[in-house]
Amino acid sequence: MKAFKKKLLIGALSAMVCCSFTYEAEAASYQGATNQAKDITKQDDFKTISGNKHTAVDYLVFVNKTHKLPDDYEAKLPLITVKNSFGREFQIEPETYRHFEQLRTVLKQKGIQIELDSVYRSVARQKEIAAEFTQKYGADYVKKYVAVPGYSEHHTGLAVDICLVVDGKIIDDNDEMIAQKEIFAQIHPLLTEYGFILRYPQGKDNITGYSYEPWHFRYVGKETAKKINDAGLTMEEYMK
Ligand SMILES: [Zn+2]
Repeated sequence: MKAFKKKLLIGALSAMVCCSFTYEAEAASYQGATNQAKDITKQDDFKTISGNKHTAVDYLVFVNKTHKLPDDYEAKLPLITVKNSFGREFQIEPETYRHFEQLRTVLKQKGIQIELDSVYRSVARQKEIAAEFTQKYGADYVKKYVAVPGYSEHHTGLAVDICLVVDGKIIDDNDEMIAQKEIFAQIHPLLTEYGFILRYPQGKDNITGYSYEPWHFRYVGKETAKKINDAGLTMEEYMK
């Protein structure tokens, strides 16, 4: 979810996506390309933010406004550092990135440009943001616009917010994105093929706790994505 209206808070956002942690392997920082993405995710020596060798990623980890990220999840999460076409750096779980790049490439061939806009945010960083914003804008504002640390899907490393590039113009404002109905109508049917689901679909606010976010994709793996999609479910309903 995009926690803020970007136009107001560009500075804060860039601070938000900045890496609070560094991933050791220099080779992990590169311009995204499908082949490179493939190579890098073949390596089994990812280090997590805590420096431990990671075990297995729980691609079904379930997080929402009432369901907290498991306490030990982040410590085991493998992350790589990648850049979007504008050179902005992000941290992301490797398999999620590999599949995102595949999706991006296929869409490019159709004349649609999607770019990473917001990906992983650590719980620690979210706490800092909440504190900063409480001081600046007050508790009511924070309650309304800032995700509670530990309860954002962006902590999982498996969620991506995209922005669009249309006629050379970056579209990343929430309302402008929602207005791009034709483009999203072409993107959304492709998501499951690459293991993603549209996490906050239209008309499911009462179940997901979020209004429609056509830009927020969650990686769950192809098999699960297909099951969720074919059944017309939200992740909340599927995980019950
Ligand atoms: Zn999001």
